[in-house]
Amino acid sequence: MNRRSDRLKSLPEYPFARITRLKKGVKRDIIDLGIGDPDLPTPEYIISSLKNAIDDPITHQYPPYNGYLSLRKEIALWYKKRFNVSLSPHNEILPLLGSKDGISHILFSIINPSDYVLVPDPGYPVYKSATILAGGIPKIVPLLSQNGFLPDLDNIDPKGCKAFFLNYPNNPTAAVCSLDFLKNLVSFARKNNIIILFDLAYSEVYFDEKPPSLLQIEGGIDVGIEFHSFSKTYNMAGWRLGFCVGNRDIIQSLLSLKTNLDSGIFGAVQHAGISALKDEGFVEEMRKVYKRRLDILASGLSSCGFKVDMPKATFYLFLPIKGSSFDFSERLLKDTGVVVTPGISFGEYGEGFVRFSLTSPDDKIEEAVARIKKGFRI
Ligand code: PLP
Repeated sequence: MNRRSDRLKSLPEYPFARITRLKKGVKRDIIDLGIGDPDLPTPEYIISSLKNAIDDPITHQYPPYNGYLSLRKEIALWYKKRFNVSLSPHNEILPLLGSKDGISHILFSIINPSDYVLVPDPGYPVYKSATILAGGIPKIVPLLSQNGFLPDLDNIDPKGCKAFFLNYPNNPTAAVCSLDFLKNLVSFARKNNIIILFDLAYSEVYFDEKPPSLLQIEGGIDVGIEFHSFSKTYNMAGWRLGFCVGNRDIIQSLLSLKTNLDSGIFGAVQHAGISALKDEGFVEEMRKVYKRRLDILASGLSSCGFKVDMPKATFYLFLPIKGSSFDFSERLLKDTGVVVTPGISFGEYGEGFVRFSLTSPDDKIEEAVARIKKGFRI
């Protein structure tokens, strides 16, 4: 008997399930360039901070729902330093159990059933599933390569729309946006009374200019909030730590919802987060590692015949291919043992692309390129 709720049944298949099934059937050793999970360990200065904090019994008790004030103050300092944006630690900052916690729950606190939510395609699959779970209706916003994978704001029908997910630097396309784009976005949001949910999970993985914040724009804080992740910036994906900042009414609504869902973030993890934000060089080194891998992969794939535009941020290469992205990924896996993610996993407008991830060591990336060169026709 299928006891799943109608709501759960209405979700699309977990997008990476198909490729996971394929991987299981492959006998040779696999090089996985499909996943977006940093392979390098969390830096030692963060780990030792957790070890110290765990000896303090206060961290063994329930933490405050809105996180330690000391963490919120550290986030405010980081925001001032990074974006020159001043935030109140009292009501404009909320630590999260990873940014996915906020992204997947925010709609429960700001939309009503049958409200539309603008969902970018291709995009992080959680935007769509979170919309469906919260009773909203996803309205797809195509991100096209000819527009730099930015939404065409003039072509969006805003009727009935309550919220708009955006993500720059972008997964999967690696696109970035400018302050000018964000200025237009804030006007669009104001004019149409739409809440902007800006996902900055990759804000610190860049190789060019520093990616901007929505809150740098005048009036930005009136129209939305933005999400940050410790997972990608400090290799802390397993620790489950993130935060959101911005409009106090929206932040407080999310907090109010979350008091009913979880009981906060382990105190020792919060102390580790405070230390992480005090970083004095680790993140710069992390960017150098990804840049080196990017150079190896980009030049290698170019020499195999792929059309490569160098990304300015994220640890992804999103490359056009001929035909079905799933068939391409399947053939690549069978012929070479290299796993990539088909663009279709990120939505119908991702079709015709595949995503390579830089979360494997240099030698694995070199070997992947060598295998493709030797045994694959693109
Ligand atoms: N946003 C984007 C665009 C992502 O790619 C991811 C993870 O892959 C997340 C958010 C969630 O990150 P976390 O919950 O680990 O902070």
